[in-house]
Amino acid sequence: MSTEDTLLYLDGVSVSFDGFRALNSLSLVIEPGEMRAIIGPNGAGKTTMMDVITGKTRPDTGTILFEGRTDLTSLREPAIANLGIGRKFQRPTVFEMHTVWDNLELSLKAPRRPLKTLTYSATKEDRARIEEILDITRLSPRRDRPAGSLSHGEKQWLEIGMLLAQDPKLLLVDEPVAGMTDAETEQTAHLLKDIAGKHSVIVVEHDMVFVRELGVKVTVLHEGSVLAEGSLDTVSANKQVIDVYLGR
Ligand code: ADP
Repeated sequence: MSTEDTLLYLDGVSVSFDGFRALNSLSLVIEPGEMRAIIGPNGAGKTTMMDVITGKTRPDTGTILFEGRTDLTSLREPAIANLGIGRKFQRPTVFEMHTVWDNLELSLKAPRRPLKTLTYSATKEDRARIEEILDITRLSPRRDRPAGSLSHGEKQWLEIGMLLAQDPKLLLVDEPVAGMTDAETEQTAHLLKDIAGKHSVIVVEHDMVFVRELGVKVTVLHEGSVLAEGSLDTVSANKQVIDVYLGR
């Protein structure tokens, strides 16, 4: 695959904070429609990696290309979001007083505009898309409930749905199953598997049961660079990975 065919291409990306190298010549390639799990010990650079992709942190050196041509290192956060890169932080952020439906409608109508500029009502296409997202997130039975009344897992799915409403090409998801029940964790794996293909997804996660359920290629980060890459079985058998992460 040539660079032009990649969705996201990181090469030799380094970031230092006061002389400490949080990312050390990190390279990573994500293909269109691919879902990738990123694992690694605390301090490995997972958050910093997401920060450089989304423009929160500017790398000191290295290349970050989106869709093989757009150089992300020269863009600010809003411009990168506008390209179709969505990010979900660990804690769910939803409009608690509004219904599930209204949360999705607001996200659909306000993808990249301030909420106060919302004046038009949902079109037939908007409503069809909301129904589709309610199906994907299994939140259809909760559509008229205030988001604040949802369980922790349901709020996470709603927020993923809100990001989907903005039709991202790439979704970065940080520890989505932290604090979830086993059933919710399993449901989250199904949800993400349903959306991969149409959207590329990078999932940072510590829960190995969940990573196994995802069944996707895994990248292990350690000290700011890639220690191993491959199936979960392959990286789990890697002695260095066991030493720095899995064996702990
Ligand atoms: P992870 O998400 O894998 O736990 P991080 O990307 O948060 O790792 O952090 C990588 C390293 O960089 C850590 O040692 C962390 O303390 C350091 N670091 C991250 N952000 C900053 C910052 N803004 N200032 C100083 N050090 C930072």
